[in-house]
Amino acid sequence: MSRSFDIAIAGAGPAGLAAALYLKRAGHKVTVFERFDEPKPVGSGLILQPTGLTVLADLGLLDDILALGSRIERLHGTDARSGRTVLEVRYDAGRGRRFGLAVHRAALFGVLYRAALREAIAIETNVEIEALETGERASLVCGNGKRLGPFDLVVDASGARSKLRQCLGDPAMPRPLAYGAFWASLAWRDGFDQSALLQRYDKASVMVGVLPIGRPQPDAEPMAAFFWSLKPDDADQVRATGLDAWKARVVSVWPDCEVFTSQIESFEQLSLASYGHHTMTLPAGRRLAVIGDAAHSTSPQLGQGANMALLDAAALSHALAHANGVDGALDAYAKARRWHVRLFQTLSLSLTPFYQSDSTMLPFIRDRLVTALAKVPPGPQFLAAMVAGTVVDPFRRIGLAELQWPAAG
Ligand SMILES: Cc1cc2nc3c(=O)[nH]c(=O)nc-3n(C[C@H](O)[C@H](O)[C@H](O)COP(=O)(O)OP(=O)(O)OC[C@H]3O[C@@H](n4cnc5c(N)ncnc54)[C@H](O)[C@@H]3O)c2cc1C
Repeated sequence: MSRSFDIAIAGAGPAGLAAALYLKRAGHKVTVFERFDEPKPVGSGLILQPTGLTVLADLGLLDDILALGSRIERLHGTDARSGRTVLEVRYDAGRGRRFGLAVHRAALFGVLYRAALREAIAIETNVEIEALETGERASLVCGNGKRLGPFDLVVDASGARSKLRQCLGDPAMPRPLAYGAFWASLAWRDGFDQSALLQRYDKASVMVGVLPIGRPQPDAEPMAAFFWSLKPDDADQVRATGLDAWKARVVSVWPDCEVFTSQIESFEQLSLASYGHHTMTLPAGRRLAVIGDAAHSTSPQLGQGANMALLDAAALSHALAHANGVDGALDAYAKARRWHVRLFQTLSLSLTPFYQSDSTMLPFIRDRLVTALAKVPPGPQFLAAMVAGTVVDPFRRIGLAELQWPAAG
C-alpha cells in the first residue's frame, strides 16, 4: 500500500464491519457511522456459505464463528401433500468437505463487532448518514444537518435502503418482491436434522422452513430459525384471523412443527421480512464505494446476501492495496465483483418465483426438474456450487484462496 487513507464507512452490518476490519488492518484510518444507538443485528438466522466462511477465515475469525454456528451439510425440501423429496442439495457434492454454517445473526454480528473493538476501530453510533458531497475529498451529511469529514473515501454499507447510493443516481428503494416471510428465533427441538435446512412446500405459495442456527452467544442454548412464507400485504389479515388459526395452518402443512409453533405466544415474536431486488450497475462513484445490500439486495432464497457482502469487503480492501490511488481502486473493486454479483443476482431473481409465487406451473416444473437434476451428474455438483456461491470463481480476482476445510468436529 502506498499511502494511508482516511475512510468513512456508513453502516455496521456484516459488510461495514468486515470492511472496517480489512481496511484498519491495512493501515487506513477508519471510522464507522451507524444510525442505531447501539450497533445490533436485525432478524433471525442466515447461512454462511463457503464464500462467506472463506472471508471470515481470511479475517482470522473462522474458529470464533464455527464455535457458535451449526454446520449444514444439505438442503432438503419436501412436497407437503405427497411427502416426496423435491429438493436435495449436498454441499459435499461439490469440492470435498465443504459445508455451510447456519448462524444466529447475533453470532455473526458479535464475532465481527468484538473483532472491531479489539482493533480499536472507531464506531460512532446514533449517526444517520443522509447524503454525500464530493469535491477533492468527500464529506457526509447527517440527518441533523451536521457535516462529517472530509474523507478520502466513503464506503456505503448501509443496507438495501441506502440513501447514499442515490448520489450515484440509483433508486433509494429496491423493487418489492411479492412474497416475504414471518421469521422467528426459537429454542431448538430434537426430531429435526441438525445438519440440514429443511423446507416443506405446497406449490410455491406455501413454504415452511426450519434452520438450526446454533447459539447467539457461547453460553446460550441452541436455537432454530423458523420461517413461514407469506405476502407482506396479507400479514394484517393473518394477524386479524388470530394466532391459533395461523398455527393450525402451519401444523396442517408440517405437523412436526408443533414443537416450534407451541413456543410462539404472540405475533410479536414473528418478524415480518419483506424482500426487494436491486442491483447497481456500477457500485462505485467519485470517492464512494457501495458494498453489501446497498449495492445488491435480493430475496434470501439462495442464501447469498451476507456472503456477497463479506466478499465485497474483501474485494474493496484488495483493490485499495493493489491499485494506484482511490479512483483506480474503485474501478478495480467494481470490476472484480461484477460477474459474480450479476450472476447470483440473476439466479436469485429467476429462482425465487419457483419457491415464492402464486404460479402453479413453476413449482410443477421445480418438483420435476430439480429432483431430476439432483440425481444426474453434473446436476448435484452444479446445485452445490450454486448454493455455495461458487458457480463462477469469486475468490481469484479478489486475492483470496478458498479456505482449507476443517474436518467435522
Ligand atoms: C429474512 C432474511 C433471511 C436471510 N437469509 C440469508 C442467508 O441465509 N444467507 C445470506 O447470506 N444472507 C441472508 N439474508 C441477507 C442478509 O441478511 C443481507 O444480505 C446482509 O445482512 C447484508 O449485510 P449489509 O451489511 O450489506 O447490510 P445490513 O445487514 O442491512 O446492515 C446495514 C447497516 O447499516 C445501518 N444503516 C442503515 N442506514 C444507515 C444510515 N443512513 N446511516 C448509518 N447507518 C445506517 C443499519 O442500521 C445496519 O446496521 C437474509 C435476509 C433476510 C431479510
